[in-house]
Amino acid sequence: LNYATARFMKSAPTLALCPDDAGAEVAFAGRSNAGKSSAINALTRQKALARTSRTPGRTQLINSFCLGNDEALRLIDLPGYGYAKVPGAVKREWQAHLSDYLCNRQSLRGLVLMMDVRHPLTEFDELLLSFADERDLPVHILLTKADKLKKGPASASLQKVRKQLIEWEDLVTVQLFSALKKDGLETLSAQLDKWLDS
Ligand code: GDP
Repeated sequence: LNYATARFMKSAPTLALCPDDAGAEVAFAGRSNAGKSSAINALTRQKALARTSRTPGRTQLINSFCLGNDEALRLIDLPGYGYAKVPGAVKREWQAHLSDYLCNRQSLRGLVLMMDVRHPLTEFDELLLSFADERDLPVHILLTKADKLKKGPASASLQKVRKQLIEWEDLVTVQLFSALKKDGLETLSAQLDKWLDS
């Protein structure tokens, strides 16, 4: 599939306001600052499709993009999580929308979960993995900003995460990724093709 043809469809505050639950889509999630927007922009070869914005307001929305003119094939940018400044009640609301989306969206084929290669498997990551596990949703983990580590430590982090998730090896795949160096794009595209093409 040609991810460079991705274009913005709509932003929605809740699952009910997302595009029709038909066709196939993959969702991108991660803690704020994990590199989600940069990964989506690298994948789609667009500078600012997903905003690398630090404004929490923006990130509360579920942003949908479609491939070319085919609204049945979509990439979904889920709200980031973990802004210290956001009050607890707002955080709980985000979490409720996220779990609603991840648990109930029929057209969802897989979840791409971004984690900083230096701080993988946070509590939030574990929570999303548990939502995915509940419905047997496949998860592809990007260990982002891999360029921040030398080769040895980066592959050590990869092996460590794989080992920690060995129980879920049927559902979970893991790779190193760098939006900055454009490393890991082929592996990511191949995984998305598998999910969206079938
Ligand atoms: P988001 O909040 O998850 O969407 O994260 P962003 O994509 O906005 O990235 C957060 C910060 O990490 C920004 O300052 C980016 O420039 C930086 N960043 C993202 N990806 C990479 C990468 O691959 N390498 C490096 N060195 N920095 C990155």
